[in-house]
Amino acid sequence: MKTSIKRIGVLTSGGDAPGMNAALRAVVRTAAFHSIVCIGIYRGYQGLVDNDVRLMNARSVNNIINKGGTILKSARCLEFRTKKGRVSAFKTIQKNDIEALVIIGGDGSFTGAMIFQSEFNIPVIGIPGTIDNDIFGTSYTIGYDTALNTVIEAVDKIRDTAISHNRLFFVEVMGRDAGHIALNTGIGAGAEEVLIPEEDMGLERLLESLKRSEKTGKSSSIVIVAEGDKTGKNVFEIAEYVEKNLPYYDVRVSVLGHMQRGGSPSCFDRVLASRMGLYAVEALLEGKSNVMVGVKSEKMILSPLVKAIKGKSEINKDLIRVSDILTI
Ligand code: ADP
Repeated sequence: MKTSIKRIGVLTSGGDAPGMNAALRAVVRTAAFHSIVCIGIYRGYQGLVDNDVRLMNARSVNNIINKGGTILKSARCLEFRTKKGRVSAFKTIQKNDIEALVIIGGDGSFTGAMIFQSEFNIPVIGIPGTIDNDIFGTSYTIGYDTALNTVIEAVDKIRDTAISHNRLFFVEVMGRDAGHIALNTGIGAGAEEVLIPEEDMGLERLLESLKRSEKTGKSSSIVIVAEGDKTGKNVFEIAEYVEKNLPYYDVRVSVLGHMQRGGSPSCFDRVLASRMGLYAVEALLEGKSNVMVGVKSEKMILSPLVKAIKGKSEINKDLIRVSDILTI
């Protein structure tokens, strides 16, 4: 290893995601493997500001690989957005002799990490933990696969009741800026239509599609709506509009909400988090900083944090065609 780093800090920040614990476990155990002291920082940047830290060893992360949420807890920390707050945070770094930081979080957390690195010259590395999969520089973020499975399970159940009553269900899923969850679960759950932020399908096209379905004998349907869809209406307004224009449909709305963040991580997320945690610590020891770990074509890669924040994660356009054709 190229550096002489002997003590690292790790925190989970921003929106929680299933698999953050598996990533933490990997960070702590990789540190132990290389005889590095690992300091767990509680409640994201808030713990850094408040010096809320604890030493972690390989046994501190027993039995957490299967747990949702984050045992370090997470927080949205307003103080860290101010210079005064970051000066307090740096005092914690000095007090605990922390020489480098591993940040498990989303693009907001990485923005904070970059600012902190530039002000105090402490090496930082990001691990992408967010269910939305909306981070440039990795094909998958930790928590995304679990969230997909959670949504699919919920929509399958909604389908049972939709069929029994000839109903049209609008199901809102997470995704303010990205339609990854909506598009993939739309295909996976066999939804009639999918409304995503990346494409403005327009309400008229939605009506046409639903009319067509009804004519071809579909008596119940499911439409998946991403939170940030581009119709300019929220899911309740969309449902009301459709009900007014297509009175033969018995319309219902289901907002899945925070349940999408919870639950035991899938095997995919546990493996991804384990690989990312290990790779992040070894990259820090190799002298890397201001980068995020990611996975592309099954290979672990590093991207500059600035790219992870500013770059746009693209949806797979091919999936739109798959969805359109298979709902004929
Ligand atoms: P996520 O990491 O999931 O995108 P947030 O956007 O809430 O979540 O960011 C998590 C935390 O990162 C914030 O509560 C704040 O402490 C820190 N942060 C975000 N943006 C900045 C910024 N511009 N400057 C300093 N800290 C920031």
